[in-house]
Amino acid sequence: TELLASPIENIRMQLQDLQRAEASIGRVKELLEIESQIQDGTESLRQEGPLSIRFDHVDFGYEDHLTTLQDIHFELKAGKSLGILGRTGSGKSTLSRLLLRFYDTRSGTIFIDHQDIRQLKLQDLRKRVGFVTQQIELFQGTIRDNLTFYDDSIMDEQIIAILDDIELGDWLSGQPNGLDTMLESNGNGLSAGEAQLLAFARVFLTNPGIVILDEASSRLDPATEHKIESAIDKLLSGRTCIIIAHRLATIERVDQLLILEDGHIVEQGERTQLIADPQSRFTQMRRVGMEEVAV
Ligand code: ADP
Repeated sequence: TELLASPIENIRMQLQDLQRAEASIGRVKELLEIESQIQDGTESLRQEGPLSIRFDHVDFGYEDHLTTLQDIHFELKAGKSLGILGRTGSGKSTLSRLLLRFYDTRSGTIFIDHQDIRQLKLQDLRKRVGFVTQQIELFQGTIRDNLTFYDDSIMDEQIIAILDDIELGDWLSGQPNGLDTMLESNGNGLSAGEAQLLAFARVFLTNPGIVILDEASSRLDPATEHKIESAIDKLLSGRTCIIIAHRLATIERVDQLLILEDGHIVEQGERTQLIADPQSRFTQMRRVGMEEVAV
């Protein structure tokens, strides 16, 4: 029996491996299906200048029996900035995923530059909407490759100018092979601030009409903090911005605010008006400090 058990055991193990492989193929298929449910549109977006955004009574759920976002309704004029606040799980990232059309709304419509985003060419949409996430999307490759990932027609002079502009010029000078210096995957070997600034540089180089910034919540030293703040100022000028904000300093820079709770809007308005209103949630949030509410 000893002799027999072993090959049978082997076959059993191989079957288990096969089942596991099948399960992961299933997951990949699921992801592909999400993407294929999205029907490409035919309309183009203006290639220059900031673009307006409008959410018209948008509902969405990842699953049929769940509602993740409910009656999201707001307008952001071209060139204006909106800060989104809310606890983890309140729906901030979902809102940005809808704008990039990773998913379609359950009901209601999203407009960019007065066009229903379902009618836009996906390629156009994703090119004109820049996305800076908390996840460091740097890969193993040269600094140049990392920054021109979306557009390899970008010239070295443009890259150097942008890096100077966001105060990474000295950092670049310190690299052994300039733009040919290899970066490690996931931004290993870089400080959190450098990685975030490089992500900004990548967005600046594509010059999008809309930027979604999911701000990193990591603590930075004051000098880096200052660099990030001035890079955000540059990001805000001449672009329409949605910022998922984790820093009070960032929120103080935006034109409008929207506070989410469990997938619905509990407060929205001009920042200056919300500050002036002692009863507003925003005023209360500022009183207790951001950590209590936005992280
Ligand atoms: P936030 O960005 O404010 O932390 P999210 O938009 O990530 O919130 O999440 C909103 C809700 O949707 C949460 O309850 C979260 O668990 C759920 N959720 C997020 N992503 C998915 C997904 N891919 N599939 C199913 N549920 C999700």
